[in-house]
Amino acid sequence: MDFALTEEQVLMQDSLKSFALNELLPKYAHWDRTGQFPAELWPKLGEMGAFALRVPEEHGGGAYSYLDAGLTIEQIAKGDFNLCYGILNACFCGDILSRFASPALCETWLRPLAAGDIAMCVCLTEPHCGSDAASIRTCAVRDGDDYVITGEKSSVTLLMAGSAAVLFAKTDPDKGARGVSAFLVPLDGPGLSKTRYADMGARGIVRGSLFLDNVRVPATSMIGPENAGFSQVMATFDYTRALIGLMCLGAAEQTLEETVGYVKQRQAFGQPVSKNQGVSFPLAEAKARLEMLRWLCYRTLWLRDAGLPHTAEAAMCKAEGPALCADVIRDCMVLHGHYGYTQDYPVEQRYRDVLGQIIADGTPQIMKMIIARHMLGREFA
Ligand SMILES: Cc1cc2nc3c(=O)[nH]c(=O)nc-3n(C[C@H](O)[C@H](O)[C@H](O)COP(=O)(O)OP(=O)(O)OC[C@H]3O[C@@H](n4cnc5c(N)ncnc54)[C@H](O)[C@@H]3O)c2cc1C
Repeated sequence: MDFALTEEQVLMQDSLKSFALNELLPKYAHWDRTGQFPAELWPKLGEMGAFALRVPEEHGGGAYSYLDAGLTIEQIAKGDFNLCYGILNACFCGDILSRFASPALCETWLRPLAAGDIAMCVCLTEPHCGSDAASIRTCAVRDGDDYVITGEKSSVTLLMAGSAAVLFAKTDPDKGARGVSAFLVPLDGPGLSKTRYADMGARGIVRGSLFLDNVRVPATSMIGPENAGFSQVMATFDYTRALIGLMCLGAAEQTLEETVGYVKQRQAFGQPVSKNQGVSFPLAEAKARLEMLRWLCYRTLWLRDAGLPHTAEAAMCKAEGPALCADVIRDCMVLHGHYGYTQDYPVEQRYRDVLGQIIADGTPQIMKMIIARHMLGREFA
């Protein structure tokens, strides 16, 4: 058993952390207060390789492992949690395209994605269904050399900034999960319209709804074979759920570090407040719990790198990780006293931002169903 990261991975962590703290953290609150999309940071993150993590070298990416992607997202989250949505989507789209799409489709979309010239979205959820994703109603009907797509997609992260989406639609509506296909849909064509949500967090990133009214895409836009989309998306979630655990971990670790500094200098009853076990024990507990989360997530990504099963482990990262990190950040907010509740410190924003990831990519209930199925067998769970 070898827990050591390689020398390159340690160097990568160090340079990403310093980039996150020096270049991202100072403007983290700005994007929240203005609701502005952090467009100026996209090419910078592209230069750092943050969008190239699942793009093959022949399409402008790098030779990164799944674990490398996890190490990256964890460090970037220390500076700006919300930029990690861009990395997450780039990993999702890069992984699904490079594994299942034609080389031509990959070349068109992955090169600009890796460079940070574009952002991409993932469109699965619909107004009537999220957890029960096999029930989507958006339909793609074959018409000559094209597919014509009609329907509504909700909760689309990065919708306003995205140039294209990996979109899931029914190509055989009577077949449930076995009738879903994946498409690459450019987001600037005729028949498309969008509305934006007013979210409690991740405000610069902006989620929204996408309406498709007879949107025509070439049949070559299909990702992989017809009706294979559901298994593709589930296999990709097995990866992004571990990334989400690490993204939340990065935000919680940074908050913990800031809180340690705060409680050592804040005085009450003639001594630093850190001298009270009521203050130091929650910090110690948080440290221990975050360490457990880190190794669960790293191991899940290591299993994926090794080509070993990791569906249950990925669900564990997602079931426990975001909620644990939100709890840690809330405790840290309390340890800042009334200042923690103000916008003077990043802790209140991190709390709002992290909460969304408890729901995104599958709720804790759905994750527990997956874990239980693996423990008990499908017929008993
Ligand atoms: C910040 C954020 C970003 C997102 N980004 C995207 C994106 O980019 N693209 C995209 O497609 N989607 C995105 N989503 C949507 C997300 O994937 C869904 O919200 C999620 O899967 C839950 O679906 P739902 O909201 O429809 O809830 P529902 O499925 O309606 O569930 C409602 C509640 O019932 C519970 N529930 C449902 N079924 C069961 C069951 N069988 N047993 C126990 N409890 C159950 C759920 O856990 C939940 O608490 C995002 C969501 C958030 C919050």
